[in-house]
Amino acid sequence: MQRKITIAIDGHSSTGKSTAAKQLAQELGYLYVDTGAMYRAVSFFALRESLINNGILDTTKLEDRLKDITITFERNPENGNNEVCLNGKNIEKEIRTLKVSNVVSKIAEVSTVRSKLVEQQQKMGAEKGVVMDGRDIGTVVFPNAELKVFMTAAADERAKRRYDELKKRGDKVEYDDVLKNVIERDHIDSNREDSPLVQAEDALLLDTSHMDRDEQFDTLLHWAKEELSK
Ligand code: C5P
Repeated sequence: MQRKITIAIDGHSSTGKSTAAKQLAQELGYLYVDTGAMYRAVSFFALRESLINNGILDTTKLEDRLKDITITFERNPENGNNEVCLNGKNIEKEIRTLKVSNVVSKIAEVSTVRSKLVEQQQKMGAEKGVVMDGRDIGTVVFPNAELKVFMTAAADERAKRRYDELKKRGDKVEYDDVLKNVIERDHIDSNREDSPLVQAEDALLLDTSHMDRDEQFDTLLHWAKEELSK
């Protein structure tokens, strides 16, 4: 039987990471883990429990309440996707709003949040045969991953893609607000103290500015096959 590897896909916001990673996992028969969804689930909880007021996060209260947060994934039989649940309730749709996007990078700066989620991610990927996407997978969660990819694209192209996605869902959003969010999240994610977003030294760079979904997937699959044939 072919050996199983760990595939870490990191990069900037809205580069197409999740779509390509999900497709790759499906093709290889691997587990797919969207770690951004986990940070979004904590953000959804913080908003719901009023731990963020006037844009200010009460970090101590959030840390106290972390024990009340259980994040799991469940398979949606309609599309085969792994959807995120907070304390047993599917919140996949709720976490994709601009409201959540606007606070998630603040939540992701909190070290106790990160260590809780990283521990869970390491358990989920312990058996290998996993494609995990996020910001710190190749640097912190699985520094020994056999294949690491760092995805990026021009900010306006990424904002356009995210804007189209939100519009398609029926969300009322302005392009400028989406662009602002993409730029702001990149800035916070890249400059935070704990596990900042950086390209791992041994990660392959994939710039998707001028690539459609098929080309992104084909490139990832090619790299995965190359690694598996070693
Ligand atoms: O991948 P997605 O855009 O859904 O991630 C949302 C946010 O969660 C990121 O902007 C980042 O602040 C945080 N995140 C993180 N580490 C990860 C995954 C996501 O800090 N591994």
